[in-house]
Parts: sequence; structure tokens; C-alpha cells
Amino acid sequence: MNIIVVGASHAGISFADAMRRNGFAGGLTLIDSQPGLPLERPPLSKAFLQSEDSDNDARFALRDAGWFDANNVTLIDGVTVAGIDAPAHSITLDDGRALSYDKLVLATGAAPRQLAAHLDGVFVLRDPDDARRLRAGLSDAQSAIIIGGGYIGLEVAASLIKLGKKVTVIEAADRVLARVASPLISSHFADLHSSSGAVLHVGSAVEDIISDDGKFTGVVMADGSHLAADMLVVGIGVLPRTEVARLAGAEIGNGIQVNASMQTNAKDIYAIGDVALIADDLRDDLAGGLGGRIESVHNASDSAERAAAAINGHAPPTPQAPWFWSEQYHARLQSAGLVPVPGDKVRYVRRPGKREPGFSVWSFEGDALKAIEAVGDPAGYMLGKKCLERGLSPDPDQLGDSAFDLKGFAAG
Ligand code: FAD
Repeated sequence: MNIIVVGASHAGISFADAMRRNGFAGGLTLIDSQPGLPLERPPLSKAFLQSEDSDNDARFALRDAGWFDANNVTLIDGVTVAGIDAPAHSITLDDGRALSYDKLVLATGAAPRQLAAHLDGVFVLRDPDDARRLRAGLSDAQSAIIIGGGYIGLEVAASLIKLGKKVTVIEAADRVLARVASPLISSHFADLHSSSGAVLHVGSAVEDIISDDGKFTGVVMADGSHLAADMLVVGIGVLPRTEVARLAGAEIGNGIQVNASMQTNAKDIYAIGDVALIADDLRDDLAGGLGGRIESVHNASDSAERAAAAINGHAPPTPQAPWFWSEQYHARLQSAGLVPVPGDKVRYVRRPGKREPGFSVWSFEGDALKAIEAVGDPAGYMLGKKCLERGLSPDPDQLGDSAFDLKGFAAG
């Protein structure tokens, strides 16, 4: 059997890895538009951005070159898959080649939403090429405006502050991390940024982007005020890369629609990672709420394991609560589950960590635990994740008291 994987990032490589671990001995080819050895994405907004030693970027490789040889995995890099002929089981590459497959796995991820992409001094951050451009742009910039106070925007802000830049973050929602975190975590990170020297404009919209001779110079805010900076980083979310799946006739929503085995409705075509959209009605079957489209390293590898198990005819992996992490300055946030948006039945409980100033925030919908977020509190995080995976919900009224025996409770 010959398997082609489009996209050699977290999901594509995890899939190839899982296939070989499962004993698959057929052909495995990974194709990616990005040139060179595939790099991990999380460091791109953190250590990679802060590192001035570009000769040493191989340390961020997802796998070293030896891994591809040892596992007999072919990597075709710097080439884009331009077309899929699903009935013929073949794909075409932008260099004119055509390749045939028995199974095709789409791990095409997501592309950043852009603003004023035609201007010099405007950057997005998704792929290693974006990170290289941004890092090069930093050398002659003293100040940056970042549009978007989500994870990417805030991690870039922290990295730029560490590099001595003057940083302004503009977020249209009424708090940073509004889409992904509880209000307590949002205010913790907003305070951390403000005390570290970043200027935050929350609940503020950008009206216009201004330039001089094709070079970004600043923004005009909705209230008419002007902010000037040497560069602009746009971190306003992503769109799933569904173009080739559409050509294959796969069903598309806010991602490539798949079932619990990551199979699309197009014969022998699977989708995994950030681009895959798991049907909502499967949410309950996949305890931990894997329904929808999740953007995380954990989801990339979990969905890859799921597809590999289906293709090999093995049992699917045990569902885990979806988990995520972020690093900003010295703070490490770990979260599991999906944080519910504030509402009548939603309650957030802060629990002191084992060691100050670590803490965790537990989100409940009614009495049911939905998510845990921990800052500098790995023990609290592990216990919360355990509770989520066992379907245990501690009493929200007791949880905030550090004397409450959480360890005993999580042990069942
Ligand atoms: P992607 O990583 O988007 O990779 C898709 C690949 O497909 C790309 O390399 C692209 O070139 C290739 N491709 C697309 N279309 C084609 C085509 N037609 N032909 C050939 N190749 C194609 N997650 C966490 O859990 N924790 C973090 O701290 C964290 N930090 C992050 C920091 C940054 C800067 C970024 C960008 C993401 C971060 N994430 C983090 C999210 C995480 O990296 C993503 O969820 C993960 O990369 C998704 O993997 P993927 O393989 O599905 O997609």
C-alpha cells in the first residue's frame, strides 16, 4: 500500500511515526510546501524568535534527517500539492509531477488571516518561513504593534519585549485570550504583559493601517488616535487550508469534515490536525469534547494516531481531554478541556497551587467540570486533567480551599 501525506508538520509527521510504530511496511511519502526539514511550530513565537543564531535552527526540527531514513519515509519539501483526482487516486504537484496513492492523508493545517499583506514591515506567523521573515524584520525595528491578543499575539509580544522592543498589543475583544481562556487567566496574562512593559489596548479596534512609500508606519484607532511603530504583527487567527480537499470533492465546513476515524467522505482520503473538523454529533463519543476543529499540538498527534489506527485496522487511541500550553515571559500556562465562555451556568474557581504564586482555574458548567487552566502549577494541571478524563467533577465550593484533598478526590 502506498500512502501520501500532504503537510509535514505536527500532524503529518505524527501520522508517519504512528504508521511505522504500528508496523506499516508500505510506502510513506510526506509532501510540504515549506522548504527544508520540518520545524516545530510552538518555538516559532518563543525560542526561535528570540534566537539570533539562525545557523542553529535545526534544533527545532520535528525529526532529524536520520529519522526519515531510518523509518523509510520520503520527504518531498518545497513543493505544493496543487490538485487531487480522487477517482483516479492521484495528486499533482506544482512542479508538474503526478503521484498515485492508495490512501491520502490531508494534514494541510491552517493559514493566518492577513491584513495589509502588501506592505513592507507587516508580518504574520504560522510557518517557519513566516518566522524567518519576522526574525529578520526585527533587526531594524525598535517598536512593534501587534494586532490580536490571542496566544500567538501575546507570545510574540513577550518575545519582543525580551528582545528589548517597544510593544503595543491591540485586542478588539474586551479581554485578551477571550476566545480560549477564562477571565481569570486573561487578567493574569494582561497584568503580566503590562508589568513587563507591553502596552495593551483592549476593547479597541484598528480603523486603518497607515504606510509611507509602501512601508508600514502605524495604525489609526477607531477613536481617531494614531499609534506609530516600525513593524506590525498580525495575529488574528487562522483559516483552515481546505483548497485541495475541495478539489477532491471532500465535504468542507470550517475545516475538512471527518468522522471519528478522521475519514472524509471522499474515498480513501483522511484529514488530520488543525484542518480537520470532527462532526459535532461525535463529541460525546470522544469523551473530552474533541468535536469541532481544534488547533493544538496534542490534537495534531491524537488525530494522527486515530487515522493511523483506522488505516491499520487497530483500535483507536483512548480519548484524552484536549490539552494545550503557552509560554509568556517566565510563565507557563497548561490547560486541558475546552474553557466555556462566560454565561449564567458557568463558574470559574481559582485554586492556590502547591507552591505560590502557582494557581489553577477550574471551569464548571453547572456542576460539571469542563476545563482546567494552571499557571506555574503542574501538579494542579495533572490532577485537573485526570478529573476531566475520569468524568469527575469536584465540588466547586470546596475546590478553592487549599485544604481540600484534590489528590484523593482525583484518585476516585
Ligand atoms: P500545520 O502546522 O499548519 O502544518 C500544515 C503543513 O501543511 C504546513 O507545513 C504547510 O506548508 C503544509 N501544506 C499546506 N497545504 C499544502 C499543500 N497544498 N501542499 C503541500 N504542503 C501543504 N500549539 C500548542 O499546543 N502549544 C503551543 O505552545 C503552540 N504554539 C504555537 C505557536 C505558533 C507560532 C504557531 C503557528 C502554532 C502554535 N501552536 C501551539 C499550534 C500548533 O502548532 C498547531 O496546532 C499545529 O502546528 C497543527 O499542526 P498541523 O500539522 O495540523 O498543521
